[in-house]
Amino acid sequence: MDFLPPKIDEYALKYSDPESDLLAELNRETHLKVLSPRMLSGHLQGRVLSMLSKIIQPSYILEIGTYTGYSAICLSEGLAENGKLITIDINEELSPIINKYLKKSPKAKQVEIIYGDATKIIPTLPENIDLVFIDADKENYSNYFDLVINKMRPGGVILADNVLWSGKVTEPIKPSDKSTAAIHAFNEKIQNDSRVENVLLPIRDGIMMIRKK
Ligand code: SAH
Ligand code: CA
Repeated sequence: MDFLPPKIDEYALKYSDPESDLLAELNRETHLKVLSPRMLSGHLQGRVLSMLSKIIQPSYILEIGTYTGYSAICLSEGLAENGKLITIDINEELSPIINKYLKKSPKAKQVEIIYGDATKIIPTLPENIDLVFIDADKENYSNYFDLVINKMRPGGVILADNVLWSGKVTEPIKPSDKSTAAIHAFNEKIQNDSRVENVLLPIRDGIMMIRKK
């Protein structure tokens, strides 16, 4: 997932805002105690999510794939007054660490966590979403897009993470490699959907930035 020379990564971090103490602690605790800590967005991507959210000033954010709550806290930083962030994760075992850190975050009262399968939960959610972060199981990325697109307001933004999948999308894809095939199919689908404008940002593992026309 590390495409850039380490010195470039270090320099980019040095000239970006630091993580808050809360996020740095969550980052550390996730690496110490939770399986697959590489899934956490991390310092640079976290600041990108925060910055984009602050520019968009969303009233209603939907996150698909909470993990330990790092990206949820970053995205919540841009919430409009009285805005709301709903984040969904299928793994309820994560709730102690999510609660511990989310509760202490500045926008805690505006964040709701729903445990369950996002493909089942999204159809029950209200409309007029301003910002979506797709970051759960890769095989469902296209389904998540289909489920949210009609619930988004025009001008709304979808960010989909890991669309470069460590660069595997650029190589011949083995039929057994379901995640890579699904992400590549998602990228193709977005590129060919005339309802949206899109740009693939090669930040970290790749973020597809999609704007509903
Ligand atoms: N957004 C987080 C990382 C998410 S990791 C961050 O940047 O820090 C992906 C998460 O998706 C995992 O916690 C996993 O439990 C969750 N997930 C996988 N399949 C899911 C599904 N069908 N519905 C909801 N969540 C799912
Ligand atoms: Ca991710």
